[in-house]
Amino acid sequence: MEVKLDSIITCPLCGHKKEEIMPRESCLFFYECENCKAMLKPKSGDCCVFCSYGSVPCPPIQEQDM
Ligand SMILES: [Zn+2]
Repeated sequence: MEVKLDSIITCPLCGHKKEEIMPRESCLFFYECENCKAMLKPKSGDCCVFCSYGSVPCPPIQEQDM
């Protein structure tokens, strides 16, 4: 299984979806929704916004599961 780097983030406030390329070696903690300009932060227990709101969890988490 290969690590996927593209994840579709769904804004929990307005439902806007945007495909983003994840940085391989770092976690993205803050993400601004381009539609409603909300600043998204990870839910408690999640390491980054991709784990909370993305269709694919971040690369370090994917590697843990392998
Ligand atoms: Zn939004």
